Amino acid sequence: MIKFLDLQKINLTHQEEIESRLLQTFRSGWYLMGNDLKTFENNLSKYIGAKHAIGVANGLDALRLILRAYIEMGFMEKGDEILVPSNTYIASILAISDNGLVPVLVEPDIAHYNIDIKKIEEKITSKTKGILIVHLYGRTIFSEELQQLAEKYNLKIIEDNAQAIGAEWNGKKTGNLGDASGFSFYPGKNLGALGDAGAITTNDDELAKTIRALANYGSNQKYVNIYQGLNSRLDEIQAAVLDIKLKYIDQENKVRRNIAKRYIKEITNPEIILPENPENEAEHVWHIFLIRTAKRDELQAFLTENDVQTLIHYPIPPHKQQAYKEWNNLSFPISEKIHEEVLSLPISPVMADDEVAKVIELLNKF
Ligand SMILES: *Cc1c(COP(=O)(O)O)cnc(C)c1O
Repeated sequence: MIKFLDLQKINLTHQEEIESRLLQTFRSGWYLMGNDLKTFENNLSKYIGAKHAIGVANGLDALRLILRAYIEMGFMEKGDEILVPSNTYIASILAISDNGLVPVLVEPDIAHYNIDIKKIEEKITSKTKGILIVHLYGRTIFSEELQQLAEKYNLKIIEDNAQAIGAEWNGKKTGNLGDASGFSFYPGKNLGALGDAGAITTNDDELAKTIRALANYGSNQKYVNIYQGLNSRLDEIQAAVLDIKLKYIDQENKVRRNIAKRYIKEITNPEIILPENPENEAEHVWHIFLIRTAKRDELQAFLTENDVQTLIHYPIPPHKQQAYKEWNNLSFPISEKIHEEVLSLPISPVMADDEVAKVIELLNKF
C-alpha cells in the first residue's frame, strides 16, 4: 500500500541521531526550559532569519499567543477584526475567536488556494487590526501590495506558517515576512516532532517579551505575574528531535519539490486540475499536493481500491462548521467549491520513485 504519509519511515531516516540525543536528554534529568530548547530556538531563529524564536506547546497556541500579546500590548482589543482566509484549517480561525477577536473571512484565489489579496481591502473596517495570512499547503502567500495595505491601514500581518517551513518569498523565509509568525510541529508537518510542538518567530522585541511571559503563566520573573497567562512550553524531548530534523528540512523539502514536479508534468488526465507550480520554486514546499476534480469521491474510491491512500484537506469549510453556527448561512462559493473538489495525493521525503510512478499511472487511468 502507498501511504499518504509514512511517519515511521520519515523519522527512522534519522534514527541513530535522534535516539542518541534523546538518551542524552533523558539522562540529563532536565526536561523543560533547558539547553535543548535554547539550542533549537537559536537554530530556528537563524534558519528563519528572524531575531526571536520562541518554542511553545503547539501551533494553535503559537497563533493564540501572538494575538493575545497584541491585546496585552494595547494594539488590539476584544471585538477588533482580523482578516483570515475562508478556506484555511480551522485552527487559524480558532486562534482569533479564542481571544475575543472577530474573524472576518476572505475568499481565496482558486489558482493557488491562498487568500485573494485583491479581496482584502473591501473587508477592512475601522475595527480591522490584522491580517492572518496562511501559507496553505506549503505555498507562500505574500506581495508588496499586501505590505502596502498593512501600512496604509496600520494592520499587523501575522503568518500562519504551520504548513510552509522552508518556503521563501523574494529570498526571505516564510515566518520572517510579516510582524509575527506561528509554526506547528505536529508530527505530520514538514518539520514534525514526536508529539505536539510549536513556535513563534518575530523581529519585534516587545512582542517577543510579552509572548514569553504569557506562555509562562504571565510571568517574566518567577512568582511575579504581570498577565493572566497560560502554560505553553516546548519540552526538551521535542526540542531535541526538532533540532536534529531542522538540519534536514531543506533536503526533505527538495524531495517533495521533485515529486510535485513529476506529478505536474506526468499527470495528464483532463479530469484533473493540478496545482499551479509557482514561477519561483522556492515559494512552495509542498506540504500537501492538492488536486481538484468534479469526480473527487469517485477518484478517492478508485485510488483506495488500488491501495493508494489519499486525504481531503479539508472536507467542511469553516463557515459550515457547527462551531461557527453564526456563519452557516453565509456564502463563500470559492471555498465551498474547493472543499467539494479537492483531494490530497501522497507526497513525502520518503516516497519512492516507483510509488510516485504508480500514483501517476492510476490517475491517468482513472
Ligand atoms: C496544523 C495547523 C495548525 C495547528 O497546529 P497544531 O500544532 O496542530 O496546534 C494551525 N494552522 C494550520 C494551517 C495548520 O495546518
